[in-house]
Amino acid sequence: MSEATQPGRLHELEELVLAQIDQDEVVAFHQSIVRVPTVNRPGDVREASAIVDRTLRDAGFRTESVGDLEEMPNVVATLGNTSGPTLCFNSHLDVVPIGERSAWSQDPWGAEIVDGRIYGRGAGDAKASVAAQVMAGVALARSGVPLKGNLVVNEVADEEVGGVHGADFVVREKHIVPDWVIIGEQTLNRVAVGEKGSASTEVIVHGRTAHGALPWEGANAIEAMAEVIVALRRELWPELETRTHEFFHHSSASINLMEGGVKANVVPDRASFYIDRRIVPGEDPAQCIAEVDRIAQAAVANLPGIRVEVRSAYPGRASQPVPVDDPLVQAMIGANVRLGLSTEPTGFSMGTDGRFFVDAGYPTIIYGPGDPKTAHIPDEWVGIDEILEATRAYAIAAVRLIGDHGEQEG
Ligand SMILES: [Zn+2]
Repeated sequence: MSEATQPGRLHELEELVLAQIDQDEVVAFHQSIVRVPTVNRPGDVREASAIVDRTLRDAGFRTESVGDLEEMPNVVATLGNTSGPTLCFNSHLDVVPIGERSAWSQDPWGAEIVDGRIYGRGAGDAKASVAAQVMAGVALARSGVPLKGNLVVNEVADEEVGGVHGADFVVREKHIVPDWVIIGEQTLNRVAVGEKGSASTEVIVHGRTAHGALPWEGANAIEAMAEVIVALRRELWPELETRTHEFFHHSSASINLMEGGVKANVVPDRASFYIDRRIVPGEDPAQCIAEVDRIAQAAVANLPGIRVEVRSAYPGRASQPVPVDDPLVQAMIGANVRLGLSTEPTGFSMGTDGRFFVDAGYPTIIYGPGDPKTAHIPDEWVGIDEILEATRAYAIAAVRLIGDHGEQEG
């Protein structure tokens, strides 16, 4: 930055975009997509996707729908036609099932407004982010702010079931080659510099069957499994609490699935369990599995006829947050400064579609309206104020990163 007038110019461009954000329009758009049931599975998002596509096209975006399944189109909408950097907004249109209808006091597909909140399945996760991203894109297009880069608004299918037909497809097939990515998930409009990594682990205990009346003839895999679980809880879990990172909850593990046994009167020769292991930056997935292995082997060492096997349940992933001084993080923090929102970076505990972008090497952060604690439960809701703040924040970040305001970077 060389001229004193430039911050003023940036401010001016931001004002132009903010002036194009209309509360009633944002709310109506959000309600229109919440009212379309996009439950995954089956994950048919065609109707909601068409609303997103049409809204962006009408505002001046070039839009296309890509995908490898007819019912799972992924909108790729582009504004700008420059050789400059590309900012990508990504979020998802599919939602989880509603569960028991009787547990809801509001219509899950009604998008009803009560006390400033909009209720519905997906109201927060993630249609609040979709609405804010789309409306920020529309505002940028209408404002006529000159661009030195491009904005791609990418609203996908299939996030809740793994993303193979959604973000994974879009990134894998290079339908988007972004310089920066902002994933819309519920961060309470805080700037999450990345998500935790994972090292999902499967532990299989092998023993020997015998008649249940003659247990000394066998080697009981379930009882041996209990020894392994207790050892992990005593030796590893407390250690994980000491593995901390300034932006993330500490490293964690939870045994969420188990299996075992043959029949009520047979000594079991096999038992297994699954560790949901979430890791912080600095932890290595392979080492995390090796440390479980060491403890498990020691726990069964004195049990005759028992053998334990420890392996990776899914490919592990290290946590790789974007450095705070990266222009992407700075643009988003700058937006929150401008709006009087939280400026302290944070980390995201859940997995997101961001992993596909991170794996492809694109700097990726997570930012969006809503509280993750209200996701996937009855009476899911999001505050109208939060959606509007996010719309403004995305718009400001876009101006800072790809607006032509005479600076090298936002
Ligand atoms: Zn989500």
